[in-house]
Amino acid sequence: MSKYIFVTGGVVSSLGKGITASSIGKMLQLRGLQVAMLKCDPYINVDPGTMNPFQHGEVFVTEDGAETDLDLGHYERFLGKDMHRPNNFTAGMVYETVIAKERRGEFLGTTVQVIPHITDEIKNRFRAVSKGADVVIVEVGGTVGDIESLPFLEAARQMGLELGRDNVLYLHVTLIPFIKASEELKTKPTQHSVGKLREIGINPDIIVCRSEKPLSNELKTKLGLFCSVPAESVIEAPDVDSIYEVPLVFHKQGLDDQILMLLRLRTHSKDFEELNELSRKVKAASKKELPVTLAGKYADYKDAYKSVNEALIHAGIFHGVKIRIEFIETSSAEAPNILKGSPAILVPGGFGDRGIEGKILAAKIARERKIPYFGLCLGLQIGVIEYARDVLGLQEANSTEFNPKTKYPVIDLLPEQKEVSNMGATMRLGSYDCAIKKGTLAYKAYGKTLISERHRHRYEFNNKFRKDMEEAGLVISGTYAAKDLVEIIELKDHPWFLAVQFHPEFKSRPENPHPLFRDFIGAALKKYREDNSSPSLSLTYD
Ligand code: GLN
Repeated sequence: MSKYIFVTGGVVSSLGKGITASSIGKMLQLRGLQVAMLKCDPYINVDPGTMNPFQHGEVFVTEDGAETDLDLGHYERFLGKDMHRPNNFTAGMVYETVIAKERRGEFLGTTVQVIPHITDEIKNRFRAVSKGADVVIVEVGGTVGDIESLPFLEAARQMGLELGRDNVLYLHVTLIPFIKASEELKTKPTQHSVGKLREIGINPDIIVCRSEKPLSNELKTKLGLFCSVPAESVIEAPDVDSIYEVPLVFHKQGLDDQILMLLRLRTHSKDFEELNELSRKVKAASKKELPVTLAGKYADYKDAYKSVNEALIHAGIFHGVKIRIEFIETSSAEAPNILKGSPAILVPGGFGDRGIEGKILAAKIARERKIPYFGLCLGLQIGVIEYARDVLGLQEANSTEFNPKTKYPVIDLLPEQKEVSNMGATMRLGSYDCAIKKGTLAYKAYGKTLISERHRHRYEFNNKFRKDMEEAGLVISGTYAAKDLVEIIELKDHPWFLAVQFHPEFKSRPENPHPLFRDFIGAALKKYREDNSSPSLSLTYD
């Protein structure tokens, strides 16, 4: 039987519950346990696919094509394990299933209610990921006190009752604010939040406290007393330079031992060397900075490009540099000059026509000035449009996403996409094979001729223009053979200009950077070195 850890959040949102859950998963994995991860989101959308990244952050795509919460990205990166569709569910999915059952007559004669019908469906989904797992870690989205999360918390409470308290652990992540005027850390918001949990019938076993300042033993004892947990179950989660340090920070406080004790689990392994090694590499990479210009739409909201940021960090760790991501509003007057001085330009995925012309300009500057360019999904489409306009001379070339009437639709919908009327979960999603051409930058990076990568897009390179593009010099180095779709483009007379129709960022890991990100940063470093050969610069390379 699997044991369960429920991770809830209190006081405010964005406390890093996902990082906490992932770090616990990692620790337990290093203690030799099989760990399954699950995120439940209390909103009514069936998945985050139709939401604006401003509201929800990046949409993370799994191998099997589920559009999920960005925390699944943390789970994959921390645990080095692929997540799948059942690892994330929403209130929308739960209600959709229950209502469909009701319509089929599966509850004939009964009044369908939140308790037990909705909570039963939630529990089914808690159990659906437990196969082969010693421990299932369930992260409950939202903040305790929200109306929306109540059925999820009620289901979590019922699990404790059904499985027994030795088999279920409740961990509450909370905030201990520091009041500058009185120079004091305040426990009251946490007391209230734990009070709310108790009203629902959940007594947390462990409290993880986010705070700017270290917690004194006295404060831990006080908090423990008010929240009815021993002082050693009050764990600190201070701000750290790298999220990959968090499992070590917890381990040093004995959190893994606490969890094993509370869940009556015994293990013999305790090798954290892998994390120490990563931590050493992260520290070594923190001394030199490399700027990378990111020409995206959501400059003010970093979570919108979470996996891209992480993949860049991983590549930086590999090369021993800290990546400083510089967001650029490509339509601003100063953008061309910033772009011209940049050692690396990345155009990430995106939807809609805002800022498109600025991104096309970014690709043009990168191509002409031989600045390393990496295009992700939309970034490939931008590269294609730019090439068609400037090299082929098709001035009005565009994607039909931005101009449905364009004379030269170099990016267009496939016939099957033209039929689509529902917007949810109907893009080309998930993992597809890609054949790589030898002698290209892509082959150099991957070192093999068949790879597979994850997708999330509707539009494709229009094969009607393929011959002309190739004759003009565009290299098509990756294709999805079954449908003859263009997956990777690159340029010949350029140090590193490569764009992909897929999202490689989802598969990058801290200890194993994605090969394309690795080579992009390699090329960027070379460019940076060439442009800044002055010995006075702090960034020096042998
Ligand atoms: N908007 C483009 C499409 O739908 C690109 C999508 C993306 O970058 N993820 O094809």
